[in-house]
Amino acid sequence: MNLRDAFESAFGTAPDGVWAAPGRVNLIGEHTDYNDGFVLPLALPQGVVAAASTRSDGLLRMASLQAEGRIEVPVDTLTPGSVTGWAAYVAGTVWSLRAAGHEVGGMDILVDGDVPLGAGLSSSAALECSTALAATELHDLAIEPSTLARLAQKAENDFVGMPCGIMDQSASLLCVRDHALFLDTRTLQTEQVPLDLGADGLALLVIDTRAPHRLVDGEYAARRRTCEEAAAALGVPALRDIEPDHLKGALDRLPDEVARRRVRHVVTEDARVLQTVTLLRAGSTREIGPLLTASHESLRDDYEVTVPELDTAVDAALSAGALGARMTGGGFGGCVIALVEADAIEVVAGRVADTFAASGFAAPAPFVAQASAGARRLV
Ligand code: ADP
Ligand code: MG
Repeated sequence: MNLRDAFESAFGTAPDGVWAAPGRVNLIGEHTDYNDGFVLPLALPQGVVAAASTRSDGLLRMASLQAEGRIEVPVDTLTPGSVTGWAAYVAGTVWSLRAAGHEVGGMDILVDGDVPLGAGLSSSAALECSTALAATELHDLAIEPSTLARLAQKAENDFVGMPCGIMDQSASLLCVRDHALFLDTRTLQTEQVPLDLGADGLALLVIDTRAPHRLVDGEYAARRRTCEEAAAALGVPALRDIEPDHLKGALDRLPDEVARRRVRHVVTEDARVLQTVTLLRAGSTREIGPLLTASHESLRDDYEVTVPELDTAVDAALSAGALGARMTGGGFGGCVIALVEADAIEVVAGRVADTFAASGFAAPAPFVAQASAGARRLV
């Protein structure tokens, strides 16, 4: 059954429209977004599609083809905690828009997604951003995409209760096809950086390791806290303000060995993002490979957010000839990306699968990511 038919059988009428928002994969710039730093995500072909209509009675009715049942709540009673589970991402987005003074009333909304859930490919932002776009267009609200990203982030931070940065929602709303989105998370300035890997005979292989997420919330919060405390100790607003040239001096001023390593990751990672952007602008795409691998090593050794599945996937991909490979997303599970020659996709994916089997890990799920379009109306 297609989404429009499913909407009709769920809610009894045809939807007023259908909107799509993609998941994302981050090419480089990990754990930099809450340090006011730089990120470089691209939108995936996979995403969430939302069929929606307005209602005149102020009721928000939500359903998902990936979840059982239907959740109903009057929009004027929405408050953090009033909706939990998957529907909190949808209800939270409506709440966030209303809290910012936008007149969003009742809606029926049915979503269908094909981003693997909880794999670090941001199905949550796809869900929020498809909802946000549906809600704003159905209510004739003209909101800048970067503002909408902030409101969707607020939904996840304050309604769902996940303290994520601004990258995921920005990528889902702002990315364009065949480009990566260079985002300065302090100023929210963006630049579309050409990334047409197919034209260069290359491919970006995304490998969902299917490793169970371990410790993720507590460790994420701990990393954030360490970074904030280090910035305060160094007298800067955020670690983004430490220039690579001043890194050594900054590290010498930090008494704590763990804090030193965390800071070194953030400062060198920001520099790697800038170098990657410079290389991509120059058309030297193959040369970004070593930067991806250096990013992984920094996340493994200094930031300590990898797990054996991530390290194994990266090592296997590199040994099979990948030009560069790294974990992507928050870590502690999730996905690895590998930049590969287009004719080496099978070899690299096969080597990772064989190595996983030999290591007793669950079978990984690889796919090739094309840099795809950001959120948009479909119908
Ligand atoms: P990620 O964003 O990496 O996929 P998160 O834990 O941030 O992982 O978000 C995953 C959650 O988003 C799911 O557990 C679910 O609650 C919600 N979600 C995403 N897509 C859908 C969908 N199509 N239908 C229902 N819930 C969804
Ligand atoms: Mg998420």
